[in-house]
Amino acid sequence: MENAGSLPRFFILMAEQKFLALYRKYRPQTFEDVRGRDAIVRTLKNQIINGRVSHSYLFAGTRGTGKTTIAKIFAKAVNCEHPHDGNPCGECEMCRAIAEDRSFNVVEMDAASNNSVEDIRKVIDEVSYSPSEGKKRVYIIDEVHMLSGAAFNALLKTLEEPPEYAVFILCTTEPNRLPVTILSRCQRFDFGRLTTETIAGRLREVADAEHLEAEDRALHYIAGAADGSMRDGLSLLDQCNAFNYGAGELTYERTLEILGAVDPSVFSTLFRLVHDGKAAEAVHKLDELLMQGRELVRLITDFIWYLRNLMLLKASEDTAKDLDVSGENLTRMIEDERKAEMPEIQRDIRMLSELTEQIRFSSNRRILAETGLIRLCRPQMDTDTDALRVRVQQVERLMAERDRYIAQIQQTLQNPALMAALSGAGQQGSMPGQVAGSGAAGAAGTAGTGAGMPDGTGMSAGMASADSRVSGSSGSGVMAGSAAAVTSAGPLLPKAIPEEVREIARNWPKILASMPDNYIRVFLGLAKLSCDEQGNLVFVFDNPVTADTFTNKEHEKTRETVLNHIRAQTGKDVSVVYKCLDNQEKFTDNYVDLSDVVKMEIEPDDSL
Ligand SMILES: [Zn+2]
Repeated sequence: MENAGSLPRFFILMAEQKFLALYRKYRPQTFEDVRGRDAIVRTLKNQIINGRVSHSYLFAGTRGTGKTTIAKIFAKAVNCEHPHDGNPCGECEMCRAIAEDRSFNVVEMDAASNNSVEDIRKVIDEVSYSPSEGKKRVYIIDEVHMLSGAAFNALLKTLEEPPEYAVFILCTTEPNRLPVTILSRCQRFDFGRLTTETIAGRLREVADAEHLEAEDRALHYIAGAADGSMRDGLSLLDQCNAFNYGAGELTYERTLEILGAVDPSVFSTLFRLVHDGKAAEAVHKLDELLMQGRELVRLITDFIWYLRNLMLLKASEDTAKDLDVSGENLTRMIEDERKAEMPEIQRDIRMLSELTEQIRFSSNRRILAETGLIRLCRPQMDTDTDALRVRVQQVERLMAERDRYIAQIQQTLQNPALMAALSGAGQQGSMPGQVAGSGAAGAAGTAGTGAGMPDGTGMSAGMASADSRVSGSSGSGVMAGSAAAVTSAGPLLPKAIPEEVREIARNWPKILASMPDNYIRVFLGLAKLSCDEQGNLVFVFDNPVTADTFTNKEHEKTRETVLNHIRAQTGKDVSVVYKCLDNQEKFTDNYVDLSDVVKMEIEPDDSL
């Protein structure tokens, strides 16, 4: 919708030829009929009322936004025999002659097709003759930026010393291409894009006048598709009307169908599939739309537009009020925007923009589109910076999760009872476990075997945190043995626990408290201590993010630090295994709680 080029131009031409086009029929004849140009109209009317009409004006703005229309009303108004409040009467001879394009006082020239110095000379030479009727001779030069350099110079001479009765109105879609010498001679008015509301309002007026039944939603959609151009809006209405002729009310669905457009909710669906990396489903959705006869480039262009809106919302949700999106779609859009990070949306937009360029010149459009969609779904396939950025975002999300966790821990550490436990004074059960709480998300068991631990070779394949989050079944063969044993056998009997493990458990608070690395101390403090059948010391976490600190294959140094410290503190060499509780798994169901074991040992001592 962004570029006017996305409008089906030939339909518009067709509509123009078939009837008296609506935009001609309903072209405003007085300033009062003009919509959405209040400031410009007010200024011009005041100039007419006060007799302060300038000699040269520049009307700048995109196509179909009312430049020529207002220029013509202005020409009538300055020549009208009975102007009323700055408006042309529409009835005097001058008004009628101008309206019927037979007045010598209005000279229209299209610089796009007449851009030579000779062309402009023909016009300018007439300037020396004063008008035989009326008051002002108005020269409307359309697309004035197309004039050649020599033509501009000739025009400039006239603009420098215009006769009293001459008024030049230069219209352009590209004011930046005008020489400064010309710009500085003109009073400039900027014709920005009209709002969808303004266009929709006018469409309603025209539809009512033509006795066209049309849903508000339909007109609103047409107005949005017109992208700020009243002329396009009316042409599209023409087109819809022609195709819907005899079929009753013009409905929203019918409008989408005629314009080859797609309901915006489709783009939300597509975006979600891409975001979730569901490539197959995304491609299927695309095929489905193409089967319905949607045009591929248009479809992608509209999808880009959807993403552009997401980007604006992401930048600030305040922009919601400026988006021409209905309530229900807006809700979905905001949901979508919150799902994704800015780099992801930007990457989608960039890749799709590139795709449209490729598709335009390709004979394998559909395959290109499908490939593009798959790439969109799989940032890990890409090594470009945007893709990397998306992946970094994923890592950052993990980090943020971890940070929240640390904050939670720090808060708990301010609890005096716990501090006592950590400093080794108390034997109050499994404090670290209490810190961790039980609400954390489950994860796969992620530890290697005890034997493998010291050099990290026991780390299982699914060690990367992203994988371990995905499913509880990613436990590799490396650890399956011990996990199964623990699960089926239930907690071990205390007497099966090797003495060195018991000793570590007894001294654990002290060992932990003297851990050289703060980070390790805090995180390891969240683990519960256990022992498996092989006599390994087992640290059990209930949060995969915490577990990842020790199980990630990148973190060999961390594991070494733990082992070295235990050895230094106890003189014992033990094998250590790190585990993470699964979603539903309860620590006490599957693991022996070493703190209980140690407590049982201590209690008899106390009683002595
Ligand atoms: Zn008049």
